[in-house]
Amino acid sequence: MEKINDFIPGSLNVIAGPCSVEGYDSLYHSALALKEIGIRYIRGGAYKLRTSVHSFRGLGDSAILHLAQVAKETGLKTVSECTQTDKVEFMAEHIDILVVGTRNMHNYPLLELLGKIDNPVILKRGIAATYDEWMAAAEYIVENGNPNVILCERGIRTFEPETRYTLDISAIQVMKQKTGLPVIVDPSHAAGKRDLVPSLACAAIAAGADGLMIECQIKPCESICDANQTIEPDTLKQLLDAIPDLRLHLSRMEL
Ligand code: PEP
Ligand code: MN
Repeated sequence: MEKINDFIPGSLNVIAGPCSVEGYDSLYHSALALKEIGIRYIRGGAYKLRTSVHSFRGLGDSAILHLAQVAKETGLKTVSECTQTDKVEFMAEHIDILVVGTRNMHNYPLLELLGKIDNPVILKRGIAATYDEWMAAAEYIVENGNPNVILCERGIRTFEPETRYTLDISAIQVMKQKTGLPVIVDPSHAAGKRDLVPSLACAAIAAGADGLMIECQIKPCESICDANQTIEPDTLKQLLDAIPDLRLHLSRMEL
């Protein structure tokens, strides 16, 4: 399959879509709405690592095939989390960008295998990982032969219970300087609440993030997974409209 190299540091890369793929039709209709507002990358989880064994664990392989079919129909690029080594080959064939979720940042056999594929890999920060630990995890992928690593700050665990995690804005510039890799931000999992998502996303852009990963679908409240933090395409559109100004101010500061 065609590999992508158009995830460019410094350009606006916004990945949006449901927390998990919940069925072909809902994914397809969300994809159309996202395409309409200019989104080029759709996300959707297939193998969900849930804290509770009783929670929805994703549609598995069929979710990956739904994403691939939606990509074919819409021309969107796909992004999905790879949770285990025996799914790397299958996912690399069907999905454009693979994600290492926060719970797997220290899964070294998985990182090594992701170093052997050509697809870009988004490496999310572990909930309690230091910058150096996160950078060391990225090196596992790069040293095994895949330089296309994109770091994703998604909030860390602190003593504050009001938000789901605490978004570490400093991570953006620190990790860009330390690694030279693109850094994107997931405000959805950091916030855990949809009304906080636009402001955290703007803060990330203002701090120099190379992109965003946001949970968004046409019927956010009906999401089986992470409904409280999922936004509507209309809200995302307003956010996208605000971004060029934020970036212009940033470039004027010549930081
Ligand atoms: C997700 O992106 O759906 C997800 C589970 O993210 P994280 O690994 O950051 O919790
Ligand atoms: Mn989620």
